[in-house]
Amino acid sequence: DELRGEETVDLQPRQVPGYCYSPVRPTPVADPRLLAWSGALAEVLGVARPPERGPAVAALAGNLVTPTMKPFAARYGGHQFGSWAGQLGDGRAMSLGELTAPDGRRWEVQLKGAGPTPYSRRADGRAVLRSSLREFLCSEAMHALGVPTTRALSLVSTGDTVVRDMFYSGNPLPEPGAIVARVAPTFVRFGNFQLLAATGETDNLRALADYVIRHHHPELGEPDAAAYLRWFEEISRRTADMVAHWMTVGFVHGVMNTDNMSILGLTIDYGPYGWLEPYDPTWTPNTTDFSQHRYAFGQQPQVALWNLAQLGRALLPLVPEGVAALNQVLQEYPARYTATYHQLLRRKLGLPTTHPDDAALFDSLPPALTTSEADMTLFFRRLSHLPPALLATPETQETLFGELLAAACYAPAPGPVHETLLAWLRRYAHRLRQEPAAGEALRAGMLAANPKYVLRNYLAQQAIEAAEANDLGPLNQLMEVLQTPYDEHPAHEPLAARRPDWAENKPGSATLSCSS
Ligand code: AMP
Ligand code: MG
Ligand code: MG
Repeated sequence: DELRGEETVDLQPRQVPGYCYSPVRPTPVADPRLLAWSGALAEVLGVARPPERGPAVAALAGNLVTPTMKPFAARYGGHQFGSWAGQLGDGRAMSLGELTAPDGRRWEVQLKGAGPTPYSRRADGRAVLRSSLREFLCSEAMHALGVPTTRALSLVSTGDTVVRDMFYSGNPLPEPGAIVARVAPTFVRFGNFQLLAATGETDNLRALADYVIRHHHPELGEPDAAAYLRWFEEISRRTADMVAHWMTVGFVHGVMNTDNMSILGLTIDYGPYGWLEPYDPTWTPNTTDFSQHRYAFGQQPQVALWNLAQLGRALLPLVPEGVAALNQVLQEYPARYTATYHQLLRRKLGLPTTHPDDAALFDSLPPALTTSEADMTLFFRRLSHLPPALLATPETQETLFGELLAAACYAPAPGPVHETLLAWLRRYAHRLRQEPAAGEALRAGMLAANPKYVLRNYLAQQAIEAAEANDLGPLNQLMEVLQTPYDEHPAHEPLAARRPDWAENKPGSATLSCSS
């Protein structure tokens, strides 16, 4: 009610000037069936797992709209790959409304793939099982890793098929359709503000800013002219923190367009994302980005800053302090990013106390990991086990390092290519010996900071292929380990193994793009 929405439901694709959102209704599907459920999120929301079929699953597929639901699609724009794209909007997502959890927190529940909206442009408003399963699993995996993210409650198959063209899927055959119910405090993006600024809708711009501040930043007080700049500072800090998390878990978003940047600094829009296996700053999983590498792993901190600059431009009409003040906020971003990144690395490396040379030690690790083609996850997990021996029996150091390299690197070990990483490890061992804590305590801290299980790209693919063949086993197993990724799961040891050779990600071998 605080925002201007259109009055009547009209699902025809069109421009919607003057409004922040449009009321919509989901288009029913043939046979909704629950495939997966996040018990962890359900507990927060205070809802119980429903049976495989029935009214609750019908609601999670858009087949049942209760009188308290007010489905709407948001109007937003964005920069796609650096170019202004005009109006985009929720083309296949629709929010059903808000749910109040037992602890009083309010959560927006959104269906992705529930049919066309005014923002669908020439597309169908649907999602395939393949991309929905990836969004479902990764949202919950990221949350379990402590990464700020939107959540996913359910994965429902629709019983309908969806056809994606060659360009997007490499597969023009009909694929099973699915719907994810995703959940966040709000799904407002940078692009919502950008579009309102681009069209000169300053009243809507202010109303949306006030809405976000009132509901999501009560610490800023009742929004007044002085609040917007402080709010932008907070958005900038949260965005820096989010990307620092990505960089320490090896997550590549893949399509960091400004319409995919959450105003709350949550990871949003799990499309062509991927997880680093061999450490490589130039790697991107997104086939659409193979020539440009705009959204490659190592680009992410910079791209987020560029996106923040676009948001700052959009907020300018609200900020009486003007462009210099907004720029000042952007100038603080690199320091905030580095501080969070180093703080997270400090935990991963088991160095609780600070030392003047730590920044240099931290910053020389990525190049060393790159030359050795170290598996991001395996390297840190295996390193976590070393402190007791490194402290108690330093003479075993070289043997331990040799084993680490052999187990965690794709470049064959031993070999001259590993000299940089070996030198780094020796320096690290020296630094570790300056920590007052016992080796066992350092080890425990590192095991709680370095996951054993991440959503390796080929594991997601195996779960997809099994689910498409009606076997939900691999999906369930992945869900189990990814919800507690720091624990040992002896029954699922293979899910922690290094990527097999056949699953190597080469340009042309992956088929991940933005909008499947
Ligand atoms: P994305 O690349 O996922 O960020 O999507 C960019 C824009 O395309 C957003 O406005 C989406 O809502 C829209 N979009 C993507 N896929 C579809 C689809 N199958 N049907 C309708 N709109 C879509
Ligand atoms: Mg998107
Ligand atoms: Mg998407």
